[in-house]
Amino acid sequence: MFELSERMKRIPPYLFAEIDAMKKKKLAEGVKVIDLGVGDPDLPTPKHIVSAMQKAVERVDRQKYPSYEGMLEFRESVSEFYMRRKGINLDPQKEVIALIGSKEGIAHLPLAFVNEGDYVLVPDPGYPVYYASTVMAGGRAFFMPLNAENSFLPDLEAIPEDVRKKAKIMFLNYPNNPTSAIAEKDFIKSAVDFCIDNKIILAHDYAYGEIGLDGYRPKSFLENKNAFEVTIEFNSLSKTYNMTGWRIGFACGNEEIVKGLLKVKTNVDSGVFEAVQEAGIAALRGSDEFIDENCRIYAERRDILVDGLKNLGFAVEKPKATFYVWCRVGGSSIEFVKRILDGAGIVATPGIGFGKNGEGYVRFALTRSKEVIAEAIKRLERLF
Ligand SMILES: *Cc1c(COP(=O)(O)O)cnc(C)c1O
Repeated sequence: MFELSERMKRIPPYLFAEIDAMKKKKLAEGVKVIDLGVGDPDLPTPKHIVSAMQKAVERVDRQKYPSYEGMLEFRESVSEFYMRRKGINLDPQKEVIALIGSKEGIAHLPLAFVNEGDYVLVPDPGYPVYYASTVMAGGRAFFMPLNAENSFLPDLEAIPEDVRKKAKIMFLNYPNNPTSAIAEKDFIKSAVDFCIDNKIILAHDYAYGEIGLDGYRPKSFLENKNAFEVTIEFNSLSKTYNMTGWRIGFACGNEEIVKGLLKVKTNVDSGVFEAVQEAGIAALRGSDEFIDENCRIYAERRDILVDGLKNLGFAVEKPKATFYVWCRVGGSSIEFVKRILDGAGIVATPGIGFGKNGEGYVRFALTRSKEVIAEAIKRLERLF
């Protein structure tokens, strides 16, 4: 009786919901499923962060409507964090806002800047929200292919002139989900220059900015000296501090862009629960040893998974960042995922779910213990 809007019809069903249904069916059949599908850390939020929330939640003044842009103290802690970790200076009053997770900010950004028919440049494969938010705002997506030959960086030269003219936003995401590729100084410079030349907002999704492995430190796009002219960087406490369920993130960078996003948000939500912001402050001001230890754990898991897959003959490289392994399987990624779920009880994410250039690949998430990952490899050895 109630037909979905044309816009919603253009958005495919959220991939992870389908995988979840497949997994539930297997569990109901009694299979001990190993889920390497969804990128949700298995490890707990650190204790000092949990206790900051516990204390704050009892305070009546923390139970009220928060401010739209986030508590000043939270924004200050973001700015201290960027200075400490990246040497970047952010004005907490004008260049930082709190988000209900970075996904929320990414989903709302096009509403602030995209008119009917404008282009948004979207990486393929990519986090599905870039495309969905483009469509919800009435924009058109122009897909930028990411492939192995280009180290999973888009070829900016290949973007046609007419698209450049009508493009309002370019989404980029490094360290990248799902390919785990990284961006270095030269590429960042070319992306910033491209966006300045074409008056395009550079929306950098930096969700894995603190998941660098073997001592590698993923670059912020704001390290580029001209980046503040065009860049908004989305960041999150979800992956850095194992806080996916808490729903807190932030956007920072160009003042005008941050302000535009805030205008949408003031009409949609009423900010982040202040007790959660207190937890965020404790996280961002806490010891960075937690971050190092977290990354050490992912590196150890990565080695077990990648070495095991290589032994089985898969073409796969050791990522320097993120907690994903992007594995070339050839042929249909959905068929491959079904095969390992049926034959080995392992959940992985088919690359096609991230866009047509993801076909032929499967994404494994390192969000299970090394023992469980070793068990997954054993099962795969029996299957292949
Ligand atoms: C996890 C993830 C996010 C969203 O994180 P939240 O802050 O929890 O909303 C955004 N972008 C990418 C690429 C992610 O993988």
